[in-house]
Amino acid sequence: MTILIRPHHFLCMLTFMGKGYSAAFVKNYAKIVERLNSGEDIKIVDGPDDICKPMLHEPDHHCHNGSVKARDIAAADKISEVLQVDLASVRQLSLPRSQVNTLRRAYEDGVFRIACNGCQWQEMCASIAVRDYRGCHLDPGQEPNSG
Ligand code: SF4
Repeated sequence: MTILIRPHHFLCMLTFMGKGYSAAFVKNYAKIVERLNSGEDIKIVDGPDDICKPMLHEPDHHCHNGSVKARDIAAADKISEVLQVDLASVRQLSLPRSQVNTLRRAYEDGVFRIACNGCQWQEMCASIAVRDYRGCHLDPGQEPNSG
């Protein structure tokens, strides 16, 4: 099966360690990350995705907000640069483990700050990155040249 992901969630997945808006949200998110770790494909969507799903019964939840769509646009732009793929035209892709590492290093370098600006979790994500993503669910695999 294919997992539906909106662009800024590529960034959020890097630091996911089991925290979120509700128990249902976290449970669903953890399952999605497990599926990504097992190599399932991703389809990029504009607007609410499979991670948002448990929150969509709340009509005022921010998943539909313009500010979050703007976050998606900024994230897609930067991710495209870092991974050298055009997320606007490549709508279906896999996320090899080496790319998880590439995205994490770029996150640490502040490349995605423009997409994360104003997010309530920004401080938490930054501190997770500083601790080298210890305890995060998304599998980083092995660093290149680590044998
Ligand atoms: S700061 Fe917010 S938008 Fe950025 S990765 Fe963390 S949760 Fe996602």
